[in-house]
Amino acid sequence: MVPGIVSLAERSLSERSRAAGEDWRRSLAEAIRDPNRLLARLGFTAEEIRSPKLGQQFPLLVPESFLKRMQPRDINDPLLRQVLPIADEDEEVAGFKIDALDEATYRKAPGLLQKYEGRALLVLTGACAVHCRYCFRRHYPYSQEPKRFDDWEPAFAALEQDESIHEVLLSGGDPLMLTDERLTTVVRRLESIPHLRRLRWHTRLPIVLPDRVTLEWLDMLTSTRLTSIVVVHANHPHELVADCALALRQLTQSGVMTLNQAVLLRGVNDAVETLVGLSERLIDLGIKPYYLHQLDRVAGTAHFEVPEETGLRLMAELRQRLPGYAVPQYVREAPGQPFKVPLVERSQLIPD
Ligand SMILES: *Cc1c(COP(=O)(O)O)cnc(C)c1O
Ligand code: SF4
Repeated sequence: MVPGIVSLAERSLSERSRAAGEDWRRSLAEAIRDPNRLLARLGFTAEEIRSPKLGQQFPLLVPESFLKRMQPRDINDPLLRQVLPIADEDEEVAGFKIDALDEATYRKAPGLLQKYEGRALLVLTGACAVHCRYCFRRHYPYSQEPKRFDDWEPAFAALEQDESIHEVLLSGGDPLMLTDERLTTVVRRLESIPHLRRLRWHTRLPIVLPDRVTLEWLDMLTSTRLTSIVVVHANHPHELVADCALALRQLTQSGVMTLNQAVLLRGVNDAVETLVGLSERLIDLGIKPYYLHQLDRVAGTAHFEVPEETGLRLMAELRQRLPGYAVPQYVREAPGQPFKVPLVERSQLIPD
């Protein structure tokens, strides 16, 4: 049995919520920023640590809680691989670009992106609690986005003027890096726009910094007239244990629709057992696997790429092994397309 299940049964949820409070800011301040320290914490000796001088622009950042879920002395640990800067990042690979998604084209107002009909995305902050090495926003020009609350007004006004928009995605960076107080202000402002119906939170904080699932935030999700949807981001079943499992359980038990998106990553989750395990864990916790993303071709991430044919083969196996509701949609983000493009195995379209 995985440790998370045991502790779920043993610890009460209210005990966890008392502990959480505003502790997340302290957990964040104490997050690890030095690769050598991270490796030392995982039991590697000084001789074994020869981490390259890297990541000046996108430095290492990993909270203690996430570190605790890594296996000591395993340089191939799938959680470690997601956060540790390695020399491969410096390689220039043809086809991997700074703004792979041409996001600049979709800017409707400062901090507001719209690519798809009916939905618009607010880039609330550039900050995250973890720096994922494969991140498609690692080169995003966050410094050009609004900072103070008043700076957001043009984005809110643009939403107000466009009655075709029914759903706002809160993204970043990670929207949960804002305090509950600031988030409440944002939610209140969005609620005041009559044609908005849904508020979708795209966040990795419940996974990497579970303390961030505060009662105040849960209250915000359930007390607004807007239907709340939370999309978390976990890539490997080992992420979904211990304090993270408790926090997710608390989130799903609050009745909020919760989905997961993952990125298909070489050396992290490109094995059928891992993907089956991920889906099973998510379903255990009441979370629906939503998307499995083909890696966006962003400079510095080529070593994480899994060929689409491999992805399709993995998907065919997932369909055989899992109930339909536990199979994510395998998608690729393609500039100019009106939706995320589903990647579908031929054999599924044309049965023998
Ligand atoms: C991914 C994305 C969405 C959401 O797409 P769904 O298919 O609705 O999940 C919306 N806006 C932007 C800019 C996106 O990148
Ligand atoms: S949490 Fe999301 S936005 Fe932040 S670094 Fe990771 S993948 Fe990128």
